[in-house]
Amino acid sequence: MEEINEKANYCLNCKVKPCSLKGCPLGNQIPNFIAQIKEGNYEEAYRILSETTVLPGICGRICPHKKQCQGSCVRGIKGEPVSIGDLEAFVFDNVTNNGYSLTKCWEKELNENRTVTTNSVIKDTTKAINNRKVAVIGGGPAGLTCSAFLAKEGVQVTIYEKYDYLGGLLIHGIPEFRLPKDIVKKTVQNILDLGVQVKYNQELGKNILLEDLEKQYDAIFLSIGANVSSKMGVDGEDLDGVYGGNELLEYKLHPNYKGKKVAVVGGGNVAMDCARTIKRLGAEEVKVIYRRAREQMPAEDKEVEDAMKEGIKFLFQNNITKIIGTNKVEKVELIKTDLVQKEGETRLVPVNVEGSNYIIEMDYVVMALGSKADKVVSNLGLQLNRWGNIEVNEKYQTSNPKIYAGGDIAGVKSTVAWAANSGREAAKNIKDYFTDKLKTNLVNL
Ligand code: SF4
Repeated sequence: MEEINEKANYCLNCKVKPCSLKGCPLGNQIPNFIAQIKEGNYEEAYRILSETTVLPGICGRICPHKKQCQGSCVRGIKGEPVSIGDLEAFVFDNVTNNGYSLTKCWEKELNENRTVTTNSVIKDTTKAINNRKVAVIGGGPAGLTCSAFLAKEGVQVTIYEKYDYLGGLLIHGIPEFRLPKDIVKKTVQNILDLGVQVKYNQELGKNILLEDLEKQYDAIFLSIGANVSSKMGVDGEDLDGVYGGNELLEYKLHPNYKGKKVAVVGGGNVAMDCARTIKRLGAEEVKVIYRRAREQMPAEDKEVEDAMKEGIKFLFQNNITKIIGTNKVEKVELIKTDLVQKEGETRLVPVNVEGSNYIIEMDYVVMALGSKADKVVSNLGLQLNRWGNIEVNEKYQTSNPKIYAGGDIAGVKSTVAWAANSGREAAKNIKDYFTDKLKTNLVNL
């Protein structure tokens, strides 16, 4: 507790609050919740956080804080920034362990919204969404957040989930050592306790169809993620022993790594999670191959440092040109790269250094170069953008006005906080959609 007080007291409670306004994708009221920690008012700190987020225990642990809130902290100009993530996680852990919950925190709003009864007597259109039904497809960070904020408004929410658990990548995409599953389960329970229903083992395009749901619900929020690993397009990519990083983490179809050499290609957090997981599963050697320099890695610094401490090797400014083997991976051919500034590019561009090719022995190759949407999205009858994600407007509304989408499937920046932000904003816009429709109906009466 002393440590938490010290961390909270280090905050200057800045009037301009760049941590909130510039750094936090969710716009969490950071100085305000920290001020409550200073006073020992942890439930009030949680209430302030719950205005903008229902995932504080998760974001407090896994957000790239150095790139987000802590990266904008005034304290960070001359020294270390405030440990905002630790404080956020502390608030969730403390209140949850003491029996406080979202249901208690939002008691007033939940009671008010549930007591608005039938359409026939509704005069107040701002509260006219009670009894509306929304299907949320996919129970990851965007879907969970959207569900919670809709439930707060009195909407009847049903989540359709592909697996027999909720949380999506929070469960199967992020390893236990980075995000304890217990925290995800507590967060999920907190949201379900708001009255959110779930139908498990429901996969869009397989046992549920969008057109059927459209008939049953007043609106739909699609948050099915985009978890199909991108490919490099190099020779040998179809050999046995080449895996997609996302699928490896999601389906846990790990081979036996004991005594094996594994290359992980990519520089983001999925690459770090794969490398660290594979090393823990007994690989003799794990090499991360990244075509830019350390400073350009999109992975959080801490993840890279931890990976290095765990014995993972990094080949910066190296690119795979070929995967070699008869039936399975035996070797990889690499080439060194130079980084050059090109017109119109915001980042340095890696360019292969001619003649610098070399070959190293390898048993497995894991592609962690980013991900794309499952092909099911192209059969939904919705407009897609040029990257194959669902096209949404600034309200997260798709080409079908009754259907909204958020998170990776809508091409939202792929962090949990940005996904959660899209879920919360979509919930707000779905509420407005219901209100607007009701106003139109009243006018037409
Ligand atoms: Fe506190 Fe840093 Fe935010 Fe200022 S910028 S209010 S010091 S967390």
